Amino acid sequence: MNDMLDTQPRDLAVSLFGQGKSSAEIWSALVSSGVAPAVAEAHVNSLLLAVSRLDQGKSAAEIWSALVASGAAPAAAETLVRDLVEVRRMQRAKQREEEEHKGSGFCKRCHDESTPLSPGNISTVNGTGTTFYGEDRGCSECGSVVRVHWVVFCSLPLIPLGTYRYRDLYGEGASSKFLARRTQANSVQIALHYTVSLVVLFVFVAVVMTIRSSTP
Ligand SMILES: [Zn+2]
Repeated sequence: MNDMLDTQPRDLAVSLFGQGKSSAEIWSALVSSGVAPAVAEAHVNSLLLAVSRLDQGKSAAEIWSALVASGAAPAAAETLVRDLVEVRRMQRAKQREEEEHKGSGFCKRCHDESTPLSPGNISTVNGTGTTFYGEDRGCSECGSVVRVHWVVFCSLPLIPLGTYRYRDLYGEGASSKFLARRTQANSVQIALHYTVSLVVLFVFVAVVMTIRSSTP
């Protein structure tokens, strides 16, 4: 009976399995796609047999033997095993990714829009060094904001080093702890910081000129 298995229903069954569908759901999907109920059942049975062996830690060769012993065509069994191993590998990778996001301290959305690049040490001496400025696109889920990492001189932003998803953990000043992940730069945010910097410089120069011109 399993010799009747052809590629299309098997691919559909494997892909539905990869999406976490139950065997009953896979069977229904196959039948509604035009596969005869008995053939659909054979596909589901092969799939269940292969998955159970895979979860027992059996090797691909052992799973293949079990499938062939149950009546599957050798070539069809080989493809099924190969595809299933691939599906499992992708499921594991996805799981690892989820775990990595949990460990990152950011919510899934903020984690996914950023990369694990960190800005390293942040420190300024008398307002000169590197620091973060700005608070943009605040996230209500994890509380992070988008900030720009700047080289500063007398607290004025000079060179943007990168844009980060940023979360304060605790503390102020030198003892503060934060989490940061590199994200896409926002040119408007950078332009705003430059503008503030220029306005402050302009006011400073204007004040100095006024003082000078009023001194006899
Ligand atoms: Zn978030």
